[in-house]
Amino acid sequence: MALVVQKYGGSSVADADKIRNVARRIAAVKDKGNDVVVTVSAMGNTTDELIGLAYQLNEQPDGRELDALLSTGEVVSSTLLTMALEAMGYEAISLTGGQAGIRTDATYRRARILKVESKRVVKELEKGNIVIVAGFQGITEDMNVTTLGRGASDTTAVALAASLEAEVCEIYTDVEGVYTADPRIVPEARPLAEIGYEEMLELASHGTKVMHSRAVEIGELHHIPILVASSFTGKPGTLIHGGVSMEVRNKVRGIAHDLDVAKVTVVGVPDRPGIAAAIFEPLAAASISVDTIVQNASIDNITDLTFTVSRGQLDEVMEVISPIAKEIGARECVSDSTQGKVSIVGTGMLNMPGFAARMFSALSEKGINIQLITTSEIRITCIVDEGRVKDAVRVLHQAFELDVGD
Ligand code: ASP
Ligand code: MG
Repeated sequence: MALVVQKYGGSSVADADKIRNVARRIAAVKDKGNDVVVTVSAMGNTTDELIGLAYQLNEQPDGRELDALLSTGEVVSSTLLTMALEAMGYEAISLTGGQAGIRTDATYRRARILKVESKRVVKELEKGNIVIVAGFQGITEDMNVTTLGRGASDTTAVALAASLEAEVCEIYTDVEGVYTADPRIVPEARPLAEIGYEEMLELASHGTKVMHSRAVEIGELHHIPILVASSFTGKPGTLIHGGVSMEVRNKVRGIAHDLDVAKVTVVGVPDRPGIAAAIFEPLAAASISVDTIVQNASIDNITDLTFTVSRGQLDEVMEVISPIAKEIGARECVSDSTQGKVSIVGTGMLNMPGFAARMFSALSEKGINIQLITTSEIRITCIVDEGRVKDAVRVLHQAFELDVGD
């Protein structure tokens, strides 16, 4: 007998029939004699709808109230799924994130899990229950409900798997795994059989939506392999784990793209020690994660500093940055929300020259202008005009022969 931890995404529980289908899948796992813990997302577009409602009533809803509202989406799906299982004759119980012991900090809308106190889950398993946990949410020390960031039911699932020491965490979604690129943009894109944690983390943090990046981080930290597969087909899916042999061949594993990019430039910054800290410390204090950062070499001790953030945080960023820009004597602070980014990722490019050149020449052949470039050891990212992002993904998929297979 093993412990199986699964997660079902919003499209897998979008209506009563689909919930019943998920219940059947869970029942089959239980029938094999396993203990089963399941995390669910909210049904379909529920979270978007709840956000829409909130903003109809208040342009700046309070974080605590908004999170309490959003958490209800997952409460609905988890209780319905439990009822479906009970109707099939199975013993099951739903738990909210708080009841399941997901303890978080108090950063509403993007709270971080501090610890998982899984006593209650264990107790319910011992009673023979299938345990259905509402994803995407936790509770603070003060018993306020928090949410963990969009798409974060994955993170709930992996955190539970880690705390229960499960052998694997299974993430079921509406696609067949992690693809070489978004198949809606590149029809030749194919699902990968396996991928390393670092590669997956780079893809997920640069726009590949199939997995929440913090879920991958937790998986890597606690050595929990994560299987990403479809809840609609019997296809094998993609295993994210640490044992993937380092690519010996000259290979990019996948292409990520992201349209949720806003560029901020602090223009005419005096170039002296402490300036970057003066800008980025307050952003960090406001829990704003800054992505690409580029600072030009200065001319006459004046430089420009450019960075990107997600579009939803731009207003907040400008509020934080504008007074600081004045204080440090910068000329002005400008923003641009018409950019997107495209990244190539693969451990195969570690210490291998030539990838950047191939990427830039493929983009230039299509007449795609590169605004900013950043790299990690296993990733190269270009910021380009949002209207050219899809073209960029297609041309790079071809240039790196990702349709060919391993
Ligand atoms: N329901 C939440 C969202 O839409 C969390 C999730 O789906 O994982 O972002
Ligand atoms: Mg999701």
